[in-house]
Amino acid sequence: MSQARIIDGKAFAQRLRDRLSLQVAALGEAHGLQPGLAVVLVGENPASQVYVRNKGQATVASGMRSFEHRLPDTTDQRTLIDLVERLNRDPAVNGILVQLPLPPQIDPAAVIAAIDPDKDVDGFHVENAGRLALGLPGLVPCTPLGCMMLLNDVLGDDLSGRRALVLGRSSIVGKPMASLLLAASCTVTTAHSRTRDLADECRRADILVAAVGRPEMVRGDWIKPGATVIDVGINRVPSLDPLAASEGRTRLVGDVAFAEAARVAGAITPVPGGVGPMTIACLLLNTLTATCRQNGVTVPA
Ligand code: NDP
Repeated sequence: MSQARIIDGKAFAQRLRDRLSLQVAALGEAHGLQPGLAVVLVGENPASQVYVRNKGQATVASGMRSFEHRLPDTTDQRTLIDLVERLNRDPAVNGILVQLPLPPQIDPAAVIAAIDPDKDVDGFHVENAGRLALGLPGLVPCTPLGCMMLLNDVLGDDLSGRRALVLGRSSIVGKPMASLLLAASCTVTTAHSRTRDLADECRRADILVAAVGRPEMVRGDWIKPGATVIDVGINRVPSLDPLAASEGRTRLVGDVAFAEAARVAGAITPVPGGVGPMTIACLLLNTLTATCRQNGVTVPA
């Protein structure tokens, strides 16, 4: 039987989006500003197409303007960077997101470097990564930002002194997550594929953030009793029903074995319905933040 509090990221994200809609309306009334988010998709990757459609719908639903740019799979790097530079100059565009992955002829680092850091709502530009590492204000990657909001909701604003373990060291999740936890005065360990005694490392953590991309790798007995577990992983595995699986049906699981972990943890995010919905909500939050900074106005309360 589950003992842990199940952290409802879907409901939290909806509340955040409702609040953002009111803030966007207030920004329009007070300053005549309407935030605009440009999303660029290169190629036909089916998952990326779904993400881009969802982002566009969420942007419009919040009262912001959505600009979608779809380029063919054969687009060269110069053409994409030219588009990014046009969006940098466009005053109606406050946020720019280039959907990853990009086709192999394009270097994602070169494209991200071309984005104006003030419009880099994904927070991937080296200037924003540096600002986060130095504890300076900037734009923070959406998924780790969403994880921090969930942690603060469960544990309160003061996380100081807690032992946090981040499993994974990618630039889009693990590293910025560790920086945010450090800025919140946690004692932070970052684990990765070369970490020794991984289960023991996990067992010491009051806060465990799993962003590893390995289905159900973190077992129940890796978790400290009462710990708060944030599962970032999104993994597609065969359906539990053998007939459905034989027909190719799948289900989503996280990086944490949920049922086992929920018997030990104090609180845990489910997959789906945990961190996932926070990512788009934080993209909208970053777009609002970027708009206000670019125009020298405070974010409406
Ligand atoms: P990456 O593949 O970029 O990074 C995975 C990290 O996990 C690496 O640091 C890697 O270590 C580490 N790792 C891999 N295998 C092991 C292992 N056996 N033991 C210990 N560490 C290991 O993934 P991302 O950070 O991009 O994503 C992680 C997960 O989060 C994925 O499931 C992804 O789908 C999901 N995700 C979810 C989002 C959401 O909105 N909820 C957004 C972004 C990602 P090393 O560096 O040594 O190779």
